[in-house]
Amino acid sequence: MRQDINDILSAQVWDIFNKTYDGIRVLDMNLRQLEQICRAYGFTKFLTESKGQAKLAKTEKELGIVTVGVSLAPYSLGNLKSSTSMHTIDLCINATPSCKKSCVVQYGGNPAYLSGKQNAMLRRKELLVDDPCLFFAMYFRYLELKSAYCIKHGLLLSNRGNISSDIRYEDVQCSMDNFQTSFSNLVFHHCARTSMHLDDKDTLVRVMPYDYTKHYDRRQDWHYHKVYSVTDHDASKAETAIDNGLPLAVVFDTARGKPLPDVYTIGRFTLPVVDGDEHDYLPAHGRKPHIVGLRFKHQAKHKKHEREAVLAKHILSGFVKMAG
Ligand code: SF4
Repeated sequence: MRQDINDILSAQVWDIFNKTYDGIRVLDMNLRQLEQICRAYGFTKFLTESKGQAKLAKTEKELGIVTVGVSLAPYSLGNLKSSTSMHTIDLCINATPSCKKSCVVQYGGNPAYLSGKQNAMLRRKELLVDDPCLFFAMYFRYLELKSAYCIKHGLLLSNRGNISSDIRYEDVQCSMDNFQTSFSNLVFHHCARTSMHLDDKDTLVRVMPYDYTKHYDRRQDWHYHKVYSVTDHDASKAETAIDNGLPLAVVFDTARGKPLPDVYTIGRFTLPVVDGDEHDYLPAHGRKPHIVGLRFKHQAKHKKHEREAVLAKHILSGFVKMAG
């Protein structure tokens, strides 16, 4: 049996304000102390940063926004069990067989570093499953330090919590000193404060956290921008997502360097397509209904005939749409 990580994370309030590790309050820790916890769990870096991830690096180059996030081993990889139910924890319960096979963060990138990267993703997931309160306290503290660094150096900060997972951060409740709020609210605070000097006539000018999601029933938040990833032929999910205020992300069979379609029809909506490969910062495309178009990324190890076969299979499953 699989258990959705969101059921565990939304079942209680996490007291990250008072969380300690080895007798030290996590929210008082410096980077060296935080890294000691990472090492104890078998990895070195908690945050994935612009400089270590090609798509996030594009955001920094194109828009001047530093983006951080967390890469965790997706779906039920690692077969980690919940200590209470003994069910296997799933980090993206709505993943389809097609997206699992082509999960860009899990299987993409330089083959020389793949096994090291996958191992670190699994160890971070172990930390989350083993001690969610410690995970969220560390995440908060890393963002707090990163936000302070960005302010000091005149940089903007955004956050993509789900680089390879589908956690409903808006449903993760955390208690602080004298208030309780969602983790996504806390993250917004750390991002927005790096853009307080910008013109605030348009609230979207505030740099905010964002995510792709396969939970079509999530709702748009003013402080946490979400885009629904279409991965099958069920247009009713896409329609629900749009009704909930979520733009759509669609993977097309368009080749690298070729233009995406201008518009695309799903269910009762015909929507403009923006190029989602130019950078990763989804809030830049605004809140009007639209499609974030992405080109299908082949695995580097696949030869031409394998690429054709994989693409044909994904078109059949609805994970990839035909552009023409
Ligand atoms: S839902 Fe996203 S993170 Fe999960 S397997 Fe599919 S592509 Fe990867």
